[in-house]
Amino acid sequence: MIELTLAEIAKAVDGQLFVPETFSDKKISSIVTDSRAYFHSENSLFFALIGPRNDGHNYIPELIEKGISAFVVSGKKSVSQDAAFISVDNTTAALQKLAATNRSKFNYPVVGITGSNGKTIVKEWLFELLSESFHIVRNPKSYNSQVGVPLSVLLMDNNYNLGIFEAGISKLDEMQNLAQIIKPDIGILTNIGDAHQENFNSKKHKTLEKLKLFKSTDRLIFRVDNKEVKQIAEAFCKANTIQKTSWSLNGNTAEINFNSEKINGATKLTAKTENEIYHFTIPFTDESSVENACHCFAAMLLLAREQEKILPKFENLSPVAMRLEIKKGINNCLLVNDYYNSDFTSLSIALSVLHQQAKKNFHKKVLILSDIQQTGIPSEKLYKQVSELISGWNIDEIIGIGPDIYSQQNLFTGKKKFYISLTEFERDFNRTNFSNSAILIKGAREFKLEQISAMLELKVHQTVLEINMNALVNNLNVFRSLLKPKTKIMVMVKAFSYGSGDVELAKLLQFQHVDYLAVAVADEGVELRNAGIKTPIVVMNPESHSFQLLIDYRLEPNIYSYELLCDFIKIFRQNVLKDFPVHLKLDTGMNRLGLKTEDEILKVMQLISENSGLKIQSVFSHLAASDEAEFDNFTKIQIETFEKFADIISNELSYPIDRHILNSAGIERFPQKQYEMVRLGIGLYGVSVTGLPLENISTLKSTVSQVKTVKAGETVGYGRKGQMEKNSKVAIVPMGYADGLDRKLGNKNGEAVIKGKRVPIIGNICMDMLMLDVSDVDVQPGDEVEFFGDEITIEDLAKKANTIAYEILTGISQRVKRVYLYE
Ligand SMILES: *Cc1c(COP(=O)(O)O)cnc(C)c1O
Repeated sequence: MIELTLAEIAKAVDGQLFVPETFSDKKISSIVTDSRAYFHSENSLFFALIGPRNDGHNYIPELIEKGISAFVVSGKKSVSQDAAFISVDNTTAALQKLAATNRSKFNYPVVGITGSNGKTIVKEWLFELLSESFHIVRNPKSYNSQVGVPLSVLLMDNNYNLGIFEAGISKLDEMQNLAQIIKPDIGILTNIGDAHQENFNSKKHKTLEKLKLFKSTDRLIFRVDNKEVKQIAEAFCKANTIQKTSWSLNGNTAEINFNSEKINGATKLTAKTENEIYHFTIPFTDESSVENACHCFAAMLLLAREQEKILPKFENLSPVAMRLEIKKGINNCLLVNDYYNSDFTSLSIALSVLHQQAKKNFHKKVLILSDIQQTGIPSEKLYKQVSELISGWNIDEIIGIGPDIYSQQNLFTGKKKFYISLTEFERDFNRTNFSNSAILIKGAREFKLEQISAMLELKVHQTVLEINMNALVNNLNVFRSLLKPKTKIMVMVKAFSYGSGDVELAKLLQFQHVDYLAVAVADEGVELRNAGIKTPIVVMNPESHSFQLLIDYRLEPNIYSYELLCDFIKIFRQNVLKDFPVHLKLDTGMNRLGLKTEDEILKVMQLISENSGLKIQSVFSHLAASDEAEFDNFTKIQIETFEKFADIISNELSYPIDRHILNSAGIERFPQKQYEMVRLGIGLYGVSVTGLPLENISTLKSTVSQVKTVKAGETVGYGRKGQMEKNSKVAIVPMGYADGLDRKLGNKNGEAVIKGKRVPIIGNICMDMLMLDVSDVDVQPGDEVEFFGDEITIEDLAKKANTIAYEILTGISQRVKRVYLYE
């Protein structure tokens, strides 16, 4: 971003500037919207954005303390003597205006990309293909939203000579804003999916909305093989006098005609334009990769001069793993892997994830960083910034790899080591140098830092459960949208977060400001506290031997009986504490734990009032059949009973308490009964009873160990249950019932997905292995196999195994490694 004065910014965002008298004239060179991010406080301007649940204005006092002294706020919020304020109507709109102003200062070409699928891949591939020909500025990762796009466009400055920005929308009328900001000269319309989407009622409607990004472009690239999309795009170009670069893979009339041929895991492409024929190869065979590569080719033709130099680069395109992975490492280390791109902004994002994950239980934070490439900034200036960023995040040790960073090593302080190349690093590598550390591995693709990850990774079983952290946040927000802004959320992280791994999830939930976490037993709570979780934690099943532990770790017990309370108080009295929170559980018809009668409740209340160190934080009850319409009358009676008892309790107290009865299905079906808090469980993990737009968060995966031919008449597996009717190909996969895959799924009842195709499980599932009939698929050892995920849902699987999604999720064995993905 270029430097601007506050007055210039106020003008750009139509805001009113309030500056304290003593304030010196300062220049702004970085924009902050997340109070938890690291910032160079002196030149930073904080935009107090208002989200559905979070209001940036709440963090202003804290940020002033941290040294930020300039804010964009909505309305005339608290003008302070210590800071300058720009007051606007809407802070998000102001951020967008500022980005649009920044955009208008540069006339180098900008490519705009939108569509339902492939946006990020096309953007990243174009970056890979063109980064020797241009200095490119682009969205970090997939920052393509109403806030992500302005933040990306604000990165434009004179160091670059090409912009590539993707735009994504989830609601109507969002694209106009993004079009104003990106103002693309060349547009690319990627694949428009068929999937039904919340806010668009047809494919046509969806296409028209997306096209709004290109209203003032000179040229649009699009594929003509879908009739509907072709017609809409052509009419759009005509109406807005936009030149077309249309293309086809199926022989339809177009400016570019592609031909594809699959050979040995690669696809050879021939492109015919009016005057020329081009050949190139990509290392993929799937249809979306071929389509994305064709888009890139078309854009390359328009942008680049030295096409012969670029064409060979198609052969080295890599899968775009935009995701940051978190894995367990050797010697108690944690690995945060992000080795597919390296630029300053994504380094900053990755460091914030490292910080979030590294709380307490790791002694050190280590960064392994390659050269940062193609920034256009002189090396010395760049690595000085990197060095400041790193000390801002309190990194204990840096390991730099690559000639540039090697030559700038004097700019770094603290514990450090630098290597000219990966080979040098490997020569010096000693496992014992890495222990009890949280390690971020971050670098440009060509440095192949995945090899370092492979050296540091804890090797267990090839079977993994991938947890998509972005989907988890999405699901949390979907539920938040059903709640009033003030309603608190308790997230149930019992049973290892429904099998999804507790500590990592709890850290993310804390980061997302959930109000409470709930675990089943004290030990689970202690583990979370040891990992640095400060969010209040309720223990649903407090056992008497753990009472002192509860008190020491400030874990709040669920009091479900008079006897339990008596036992707890015996231990509690040995401590001197005030206002220690407890929660009263009422039994309103589940007939599980809980106080069932008014007498019992009053007895408990009496005892609590005699112990002034205790405070009733909440009263709650649990619904027995919140997901089943046939029992709605029963549910209503439960709710009435709860209200009656809760009133009795409130009336006895001189302070307010929280009331809560809704679990996930309850939130979906009885949102009017949310009271002061709700308890979210299975919904967060992707299961909805009413069809909410939740995303799947977990994918159970393994890899093929061996492929063999089995002749007709032979059998597969124990008990000779897998009878082969014809000559077949069988894949053996290291996943069995000991991993938590239900044995009932054997004998063609269950399926797996390989290379996009569903294949049946044949024969009995063994303890550690199973066999798949892969006769119709081209399968090699090492190929990935998916048992549940986006394709086969957990609910499908539960039905086949004659159980419920809860049991499938919590049944995945602990020996299956959990891998956490961030986009
Ligand atoms: C597990 C649990 C929940 C969450 O239930 P879901 O159906 O997973 O939403 C809520 N309340 C209590 C008391 C629980 O034990």
